[in-house]
Amino acid sequence: MRILVAEDDAGSRRILEAAVTSLGHECVAAIDGEEAWRLFETVDVDAVISDRMMPEMDGIELCRRIRASGRDTYTYFIFLTGFDKKADVLSGMEAGADDYLSKPLDLNELRPRLLVASRVTSLHRQLSQQSAQLERLNRQLFEQARTDPLTQLGSRLKLSEDLENIHARADRYGHSYSAIMCDVDFFKAYNDSKGHLAGDDVLRAVARTLMNTARRGDQLYRYGGEEFLILLPEQSLDDGLMAAERYRQAIEELAIPHDSNPTAKVVTISAGVALLSRIKGKSVGAWLNEADAALYRAKQQGRNQVVRTDAE
Ligand code: GH3
Ligand code: MG
Ligand code: MG
Ligand code: MG
Repeated sequence: MRILVAEDDAGSRRILEAAVTSLGHECVAAIDGEEAWRLFETVDVDAVISDRMMPEMDGIELCRRIRASGRDTYTYFIFLTGFDKKADVLSGMEAGADDYLSKPLDLNELRPRLLVASRVTSLHRQLSQQSAQLERLNRQLFEQARTDPLTQLGSRLKLSEDLENIHARADRYGHSYSAIMCDVDFFKAYNDSKGHLAGDDVLRAVARTLMNTARRGDQLYRYGGEEFLILLPEQSLDDGLMAAERYRQAIEELAIPHDSNPTAKVVTISAGVALLSRIKGKSVGAWLNEADAALYRAKQQGRNQVVRTDAE
C-alpha cells in the first residue's frame, strides 16, 4: 500500500515512517494536516495514518475532508493519538476513521492494523471495479435493446419511448411532427427469388440509405419486417411529403436489381405521410394509423410513390 503519514512532531513522524516502510509499504509524509490534504489531492494513497493534534488543520478535519472528497477508491483512515480515552476514539470514528493507534507507536499494533487496511482497501477496489463493469454492461444492454440488430435503426422499444415524449411535447408545447411510414415494395417476391439472406442484405442497404439521407433531427426506426418509420420534428405535412420523396428517390437510386418489381425493376419503397399537430384528441396511435392508411393508398396507386393524408 501507499500510506500517507500526517504528524507534526518530527521524531514521531520519523519513527512512523520507518515502521511503515519496514512493513513493506510506501510512505508519503506530511508535517501537518494542511500538507497532508494537499498530498492527498495529488497522490493516490490507500491509507492514512494521522495524528489528531496538528497545527493548521487537525486530524479530525483532515479525516472529514477525505471522507467528503468523494473518491472512487476507499482510503483507510487510522488515527494516531495520545488521547486514547474512549470519548476521543468515538469522535475520531464519527469523523470517519476506521481505526486508531495509541501513542507511543507499537509495531505489534501497527502490523495487524495495516493488514486489515490492505484487506479492506483491496475489497473496495474489487467492488468498485465490479460496479463500473456492471454499469458498462447496463449501458450496453440499454443501447442494445433500443437498436434493431439487423439494421441498427431504432427498435420498437426506442420508438415507444420516443412516442411518449413526442406525445407529451405536442400536447404541452404545441410541437408538431410528421411521420413517414415506409414499406419495401414486393419484398416477399424478392425473398422468394433471391433468398432470405439476400433479403436481409436489402433491408440493411435500405436502412443505411435512409440514414444517409436523413437530415438533422430525423428519427429513424425499424417498425416491422420491411417497414420503416421516420419521425420529423417541427415539420409540416408538406415538409414531410418532400422529405419522404427524398427518401423514396434515394432508395430507387440505390438501383438494387429486383426483377419481380414489375415497373421499376429495382428495389423501391412506398411511403405514407401524416401530421401530428396540437393533438386535439388525436392519439399517437391514430397518427400512425393515418400514416399507415396513406401508405396503403401509395401501394394501391402503384407503389414506389409517396402519399400524404388529406390536409388537416
Ligand atoms: P408490398 O409491396 O405490398 O409491400 O408487398 P410485400 O411482398 O413487400 O409485402 P408482404 O407483407 O406480402 O411481405 C413482406 C415480406 O417481408 C414477407 C417477409 O418474409 C419479409 N420479411 C419480413 N422481415 C424480414 C427480414 O427480417 N428479413 C427478410 N429477408 N425478409 C423479411
Ligand atoms: Mg501533534
Ligand atoms: Mg409490409
Ligand atoms: Mg412490402
